[in-house]
Amino acid sequence: MGDVAKRKPKTPPKQHDPTPEERDERVTIEGIDAEEALKRLLEFIDRELSESEHDSVEQHLRICRNCCSRMEFESRLKDRLSALSSDDVPPTTRDRVRELIKRF
Ligand SMILES: [Zn+2]
Repeated sequence: MGDVAKRKPKTPPKQHDPTPEERDERVTIEGIDAEEALKRLLEFIDRELSESEHDSVEQHLRICRNCCSRMEFESRLKDRLSALSSDDVPPTTRDRVRELIKRF
């Protein structure tokens, strides 16, 4: 008889404590972090990324204002560069500009 009284009710599931799976899901939705996105920004603009990489950068830009405005800036800069007659701009110059953008 005492057994019944001793029985504990099932521990209620904690509501505000995400399981590792839930955390992973959130990371997947976000895809990549800002650092990763910035690293790939130039390749993204040049469309040099693989399809899945391109997608994850694009997804990040959608949720991250910071990277998004930076992407617009770099994309405009690139437009300016290509507006210069590309025949007149030696590849070395373009590489140097790219380096400058990276450091900015
Ligand atoms: Zn970002």
